[in-house]
Amino acid sequence: MLEIVEDMVGRHDFLLTPCSVDTFDHFYPDLPRHRGCFGNLAEALAPYGVTPAQIPTAFNCFMNVPIDGETGELKVLPPISKAGDHIALRAEMDLIIGLTACSAPDSNGGTFKPIHYRIEA
Ligand SMILES: [Zn+2]
Repeated sequence: MLEIVEDMVGRHDFLLTPCSVDTFDHFYPDLPRHRGCFGNLAEALAPYGVTPAQIPTAFNCFMNVPIDGETGELKVLPPISKAGDHIALRAEMDLIIGLTACSAPDSNGGTFKPIHYRIEA
């Protein structure tokens, strides 16, 4: 459906589901409740007939989730990307895609910087 045609970082995540209010309740109980990426995607995709149950595991661009080779433990570490890095994807078919900038502190090293995107026809 999508082809990666350019990738300046080479580290992304396909394992973790979008963060959600449950993520914040479990991992960040001292922070205000937040609907997270899942809530953002659910609202953005609803006008296209996509229900919350249809939202799959996300392609987490730039998210750094290494797997310990011995224990299999996952860790969420700060991204290795730096300002100006980008990934370019080519759609091979018509797609409905939701984008969300993650607000879970662990997925971005505790910083919340703007993420830019561009769609070219
Ligand atoms: Zn998130």
